[in-house]
Amino acid sequence: MPEPRTRVVLATRNAGKLREIAALLCGLPIELVPLPESVALPEEGDAYEANALAKAEAAAHATGHPALGDDSGLEVDALGGAPGPQSARWGGPGLDDAGRNALLLAKLDGVDDAQRGARFVCVAACATPDGRRATARGVCEGRIARAPRGGAGFGYDPVFEVGARTFAELAAPEKDAASHRGRAFRALAPSLRALLAAGG
Ligand code: IMP
Repeated sequence: MPEPRTRVVLATRNAGKLREIAALLCGLPIELVPLPESVALPEEGDAYEANALAKAEAAAHATGHPALGDDSGLEVDALGGAPGPQSARWGGPGLDDAGRNALLLAKLDGVDDAQRGARFVCVAACATPDGRRATARGVCEGRIARAPRGGAGFGYDPVFEVGARTFAELAAPEKDAASHRGRAFRALAPSLRALLAAGG
């Protein structure tokens, strides 16, 4: 008999994240469903944990199902940790992913290899309609490349290097094995299982 699957709402409108999280959780007894268009996601503040929980709780309350949220960002040493939780909106509303990557490379123009350290951070959160919740954090250390490389992934992937390759040069399973999001959702999985086993 297959394990019964619990419906779990994923509180994101980012297609890149949605693809990755669905793959990361495919071993769990859940049916991952997208956030209904009618549900608004909360405004984001400056703390990954609070942002991730606010998204999961908003989705759980609006839908009546357990929900997952995540908040993530890129922290660049030479920029004092910016853009951090502001990563999605960094540079203003006129910029797309390519524009943000160009801005980042311009700000690091002349910065030598030893000073180009950076990390992706992700907090994954789950929340149930009756108010139970859990979070887990994942970090992936790397550095900012000299120029964008690779066609996979999303966001800052073309300018974030781990070893010799950027995230955008990795196949999806390779990125999942190393990434901040992979680490956070793998760390969250036991708590998610426990919340669902206790009645979602
Ligand atoms: P938020 O978590 O929805 O606030 O958005 C996080 C932002 O950080 C994304 O829109 C991307 O710009 C960036 N980001 C987070 N994770 C990744 C990743 O795995 N690859 C590339 N960019 C990412």
